[in-house]
Amino acid sequence: MNYDAEQESLILDAVDKFLIQIKPSVHQLEADDEYPEEIVAQMKEMGLFGAVIDPEYGGLGLPVSTYAKIVEKIACVWMSLTGVFNSHLIMAMSVQRFGTEEQKRKWLPLFASGEMRGALALTEPNCGTDLQAIKTTAQRDGDDYIINGSKTWITNSLYGSCFALLVKTDPTTNPAHKGMSLFIAPKGEGFVMGNKLKKLGYKGVDTAEFFLENYRLPADNLISLEEGHGLQHALGALALGRINVAARGIGVASAALNDSIAYSQQRKTFGKPICQHQSIQIYLADMATRVEAARLLVQSAATAFDRGDRCDMEAGMAKLYATEAAMSNSAEALRIHGAYGYSTEFNVERYYRDAPLLAIGEGTNELQRIIIAKQLIEQNPL
Ligand SMILES: Cc1cc2nc3c(=O)[nH]c(=O)nc-3n(C[C@H](O)[C@H](O)[C@H](O)COP(=O)(O)OP(=O)(O)OC[C@H]3O[C@@H](n4cnc5c(N)ncnc54)[C@H](O)[C@@H]3O)c2cc1C
Repeated sequence: MNYDAEQESLILDAVDKFLIQIKPSVHQLEADDEYPEEIVAQMKEMGLFGAVIDPEYGGLGLPVSTYAKIVEKIACVWMSLTGVFNSHLIMAMSVQRFGTEEQKRKWLPLFASGEMRGALALTEPNCGTDLQAIKTTAQRDGDDYIINGSKTWITNSLYGSCFALLVKTDPTTNPAHKGMSLFIAPKGEGFVMGNKLKKLGYKGVDTAEFFLENYRLPADNLISLEEGHGLQHALGALALGRINVAARGIGVASAALNDSIAYSQQRKTFGKPICQHQSIQIYLADMATRVEAARLLVQSAATAFDRGDRCDMEAGMAKLYATEAAMSNSAEALRIHGAYGYSTEFNVERYYRDAPLLAIGEGTNELQRIIIAKQLIEQNPL
């Protein structure tokens, strides 16, 4: 075993211990839709908010291939927890990849320690997939920018304190992305919180809207200090988010599988455990195959990310496949559990409510198919 593999197994062991300890409280926290403050404090202690931030800036500097395994394990116990550090780390990645040295030194240690936590703020009431249609603007005013607009569906926005905020610094450009910029935006005067949004699943973690009303930011907070690269910076960092969401997909898909393997050996019909009925065996086999295939795709995308390669196609394939696996496995687990799958006493109904988010967040699965197809054409010109 090389040094990295040893390091990885130490970290994964620590995550396993943490999960064994929190597992008994998950069901109630989920039912109460309560923000898991104590668990978040433990995640901060473990360094998870700096998981992929360079050690030079106070992070753990984990390879994304290890990070994906951590996300899978946590999502297998409670998917909501992975959202608390996912969008935070996308924000951090936008600074780490595209920020100036001064910006990295100022912000990354605060993000890595969890002292400042936050998210990527792209979506607006009128657009999510079509980001070039955003209406939030930033107008230069001396050494500052004055920002007006609104964002919605922003994870961590109630409890978080800082955001990577996508705006238009020039709303007149064609194409629109040439007028888009990404800012590091801590909460302050003019940053007005709206409502916490009610959701089907993904309970506990806060998702909310906010409004920017003559909100002032220093020009030094413009990532890379150059206008016009915001969409590129957001999408560059989002590849990490897609790998996280794909890894969550494995976690949910394998939780559904594990619960089904156990339940199908306990539940008897017609004198034998249901796992001895061929139709149940077919479900279990398909579910297990999806989990394994999803794991391979996620590791392939994570390895490409770690090499520094362009990996939008790999991350897109992993996200598409693993999240559809979560959808299928949670639906099949529900069937295997019969009426008990429909009961809030069991976890299966949670997987069934959580999985659809994975097909929407970090770019819908329809969008992932478009990204994959575009890459196929680009890589194979006639
Ligand atoms: C719980 C939750 C948390 C979220 N957290 C965040 C966050 O932290 N930060 C953030 O910025 N956003 C966040 N979002 C928003 C999320 O990223 C968007 O919902 C997502 O990008 C889709 O955008 P939309 O909802 O506006 O759908 P739309 O863009 O309106 O799409 C509607 C439908 O049309 C399809 N579609 C759109 N365009 C095309 C096309 N060209 N071809 C084919 N099909 C198309 C879509 O796939 C979808 O099926 C969150 C959403 C949820 C539900």
